[in-house]
Parts: sequence; C-alpha cells; structure tokens
Amino acid sequence: MTRQNWYKHINWLNVVLIVGIPLYGCIAAYWTPLYWKTALWTVVYYFMTGVGITAGYHRLWAHSSYSATVPLKIFLAAMGGGAVEGSIRWWSRDHRAHHRYTDTDKDPYSVRKGLLYSHFGWMVMKQNPKRIGRTDISDLNDDPVVVWQHRNYLKTVVFMGMIFPCLVTGLGWGDWRGGFIYAGILRIFFVQQATFCVNSLAHWLGDQPFDDRNSPRDHVITALVTLGEGYHNFHHEFPSDYRNAIEWHQYDPTKWMIWTWKQLGLAYDLKQFKQNEIEKGRLQQLQKKLDQKRQTLDWGIPLEQLPIIDWDSFQEEAKNGRALVAVAGVIHDVSDFIKEHPGGRALISSGIGKDATAMFNGGVYNHSNAAHNLLSTMRVGVLRGGCEVEIWKRAQRENKDISFVSDSAGQKIIRAGSQVTRIAEPVTSADAA
Ligand SMILES: [Zn+2]
Ligand SMILES: [Zn+2]
Repeated sequence: MTRQNWYKHINWLNVVLIVGIPLYGCIAAYWTPLYWKTALWTVVYYFMTGVGITAGYHRLWAHSSYSATVPLKIFLAAMGGGAVEGSIRWWSRDHRAHHRYTDTDKDPYSVRKGLLYSHFGWMVMKQNPKRIGRTDISDLNDDPVVVWQHRNYLKTVVFMGMIFPCLVTGLGWGDWRGGFIYAGILRIFFVQQATFCVNSLAHWLGDQPFDDRNSPRDHVITALVTLGEGYHNFHHEFPSDYRNAIEWHQYDPTKWMIWTWKQLGLAYDLKQFKQNEIEKGRLQQLQKKLDQKRQTLDWGIPLEQLPIIDWDSFQEEAKNGRALVAVAGVIHDVSDFIKEHPGGRALISSGIGKDATAMFNGGVYNHSNAAHNLLSTMRVGVLRGGCEVEIWKRAQRENKDISFVSDSAGQKIIRAGSQVTRIAEPVTSADAA
C-alpha cells in the first residue's frame, strides 16, 4: 500500500455501511426530536438484534452450543439480520476461523494486527479471502434457515434493519422519522460497535484465568457492552459451552435468554462443559502463575550446585572466623545474620562450627517455617556424608516424587515444612546430636 494507491485497498461499500451511514445518522439526529416511546423501542430493538447475534449467530450457529426449534431459529435469523453484520453463513465461517486460528494470520480479525484492526479495520480494509483459514461449515449448509437467510440476505437486512423498526414507530405512534434515525441507523451503529468489541476489547482487556498463551480475556466491561460475551478467555477454552459467564453473579444476559428459551421449550440440548474440566484448566493456569512467581524468589542455591565440603575443612573455616553452621548436612554462612538473629547473638554463635541440626529443630528452639526458608538463602555448601542431604540426594537419583519436586520451569518446589533443613521428628535434646 502506498500514498498513491491506498484507496484501492479500502472496501468502500463497508466504509459507507459502518462509517458513512452512522455518521449521517449522528448528524441527522441533531434535527430529529427523540420521543420517549421511540427511545424505549430503540433500546428494546437494540437488545433484540444484539441477541440475534450473540445467541443466534454466535452461540447457536457458529458454535452449536445448543439446539433451537425452527420458530426460534427464524426469530434469531431475522433479528441477527437486523444487526447488519453479514449473513449467518458468512459470519459463522469467519468466526470459526477466528477460533481455529486465533492470533495468527489466518484469523480474520487477529488482535495481533492492532486493536483498531480487530475492531473494524478488518472490514474497512480489503481482505484477501484466501488468507482466512478454512473451516467446515457443512452443518450450516444443511440448515434451511441459514441457507434461506444467506440467499435473501439483502432483503432481510433492508427489512429487519430499517423497515421493521420504522413500521413499529410509524404505525405505533406516528414517528416515522425517529424510527428511521434512532431505531434504524443509530441502533445499527451501536449494535455493530458492541459486537465488534468481542473481537477487539475481549482480546485486549482483562484477565486470563484459563490460558494465557493466546489473547482472549475476561472482563466485566466487555460483558456489559456485548450482552455477556465478555468472558472470552473462558469462551475460547470452552467454545461449545452455551454460557460465557459461569458464575451466577457475572453478567451474561445471552445465557439467561437461552436458558429461558429452554424452559419455554424453544431451545434444547444446551451444552455445558463439566465443572471438573473447567476447574482443571483454571488450576493449571493458576499453577503457571505460581511457577512464574516462584522464579522471582530467592530459594537459595540448589543443593546440587553447592560445593561438597568435608567436616574438617568446615571446622577449620569456622575456626578461621567464617560463621559457618551445619544444619541437616547443609552448611550455611550466617555471618551477616548474627546481629539480626531474633533469638540473640549468643544462641546463633553457639552453633558456629558445629552440626546444629538438633539445636535448630527443637533442641534449643524449634525454628519456624520462615526460619528454614531464610536459612536456605544462606547455604554455601553440603557436608560430605551429611545424613539428611544424602537421603535427599538419593530420592532425587531415584526420581521419587519428582513431579512434586519441580515445577513446569524445572525449578524445585519447596513446600512449607519440607525444607531440607527440617527434620521430620524434632529432636528434643541438644545432647542427642
Ligand atoms: Zn475471540
Ligand atoms: Zn466464539
């Protein structure tokens, strides 16, 4: 694209439809009085056409997350048509490609190309249809409602988008003009912008409780704007679930509508992922976050990277003034800590040059979990033949419980109370050592 030929890359029909006409509506609204009945109808029709997209185009046709009876299908096809976002067939094909190829070049509205691009740039710019990933839509081609709507798309759009909302206001209370501008043009604009937010905002704002390898996110603001499509991280993980929000307090009116239709006998086979599967995903993501957090903390030098020191040189170094203390076969340099020792200088000093395993584990004082953690940051070597370390090393060699020992990044997990310096059965007397 260059300065000279940029206009050739623009889809001018879409520019007129999603920018030009709304702009005209905004200007015309200045001279068009807004009656409360028209305002109310505009909001009601906004929700109806919005649900046509969210419950119809999206959850019913693109994802088959439930089944609908023919009358409900006709209603949703008509309402979705009134939102002016393309035919069910076209919309669902793109949306399936979006799920299958999320964030890649084959994603028709990849957020990686920018927030504005994912919002409406992808419609304003001419697309190479070959670039968009292939998806199977044979089920849609078998659905007579989808086929009929696709074949009669222009008629559907003109009637449901403009004529029908005008007929309601015109025949209802004589406000033809208000119906045209507010319930027609401006309502279409707001419904379009709201649903475009699913492609942009839902891939940009919020949390990722289930998987953070791709862009979809959960946020209440997106949910409020999009009739409940805001729990998009969940949705990309569990796309055939008829719900977007799984907590009762989260805003998902589309889910509530589908559930109501089920009670009325209009919808059936509502698909729901097992809670067990959902919680597994949530836990794994939580674990990943924990692992990342763990890596930012100082757990002391891993034992296998420490030099092996024999008992005599340990004692000699201690005699030469280095404040070394052995606990459970690990040697610690406590020089900088002596003056900060909560139990006082004297007690910690009494352990220098000695095996303080028993003293540390209850002989003098049964040290806290935090104390074991802190001690591990002072380790400088392992004692040759140090009993506890030997046991630990053997467990490592034999691969015992290795999955509990290392996280996904290979870092050792040190659980509270299982530091190597902790002796399972506290020694009651210092003499025992
Ligand atoms: Zn998405
Ligand atoms: Zn989807």
